[in-house]
Amino acid sequence: MTLTLTDVRLTYPDGDRRLVALNAVNLRIAPGELVAVTGPSGSGKSSLLAVAGALTSPESGTVRIEDTDVTALDQKGRDRLRRERIGFVFQQANLLASLTALDQLLLVAHLSGASRRPAEARARQMLDRVDLGGKAHKRPHQLSGGERQRVGVARALMGRPALLLVDEPTSALDHDRGEVVVALLRDITHEQQVATVMVTHDLQYLHLADRTVAMQDGRVIATQPAPA
Ligand code: ADP
Ligand code: MG
Repeated sequence: MTLTLTDVRLTYPDGDRRLVALNAVNLRIAPGELVAVTGPSGSGKSSLLAVAGALTSPESGTVRIEDTDVTALDQKGRDRLRRERIGFVFQQANLLASLTALDQLLLVAHLSGASRRPAEARARQMLDRVDLGGKAHKRPHQLSGGERQRVGVARALMGRPALLLVDEPTSALDHDRGEVVVALLRDITHEQQVATVMVTHDLQYLHLADRTVAMQDGRVIATQPAPA
């Protein structure tokens, strides 16, 4: 599934003026491509994810996910698109303290109306995929930061998303654990042919991406293949 942003502009109210968070952004991300988005704090990286993930509507411009014009959908249509096609991974894994790794994944499946048995098979498969098959019954406090983040990745994959949106997945991790998470995201992106947008200010992981997009003041200022 291809993600296409065309001339996207997003502003927020700022006193009696408006703050421009995204300005004339054009971007196309193909299935099976991991794109790293970098840029200073406040440059619009999270805003880009919010617009791509149908969490926020742009003031102008269009966002297409394959043939669907996201900007033309109503709230219900956007909710459904998010549930069925998009996976999110946040800075912190945001796991529920009382649930095991397996149950974190099953909760998502339950909320989207999946039946228990296939959901459990899928959840175990995804935990295996992130090398946590042996820790399915651990709760968050029994897992390391990197393991928690990998549960977050597995959870995002539960609904077989075509688009994966990832915001600063390594910011709470040391270098080695961060690298494991990013390498995993890359491998999954290629295997499952997901279009993945990963915001990061950890420049040390850029070589793992297929392409790098640099942002500044709400604009894409450069796009290039990742350094070899
Ligand atoms: P980044 O993720 O690169 O740090 P953001 O996309 O979060 O940047 O922010 C871009 C700009 O929009 C910043 O100036 C930020 O202060 C502003 N901004 C972000 N979210 C909001 C919001 N909900 N309300 C008002 N301003 C916001
Ligand atoms: Mg941000």
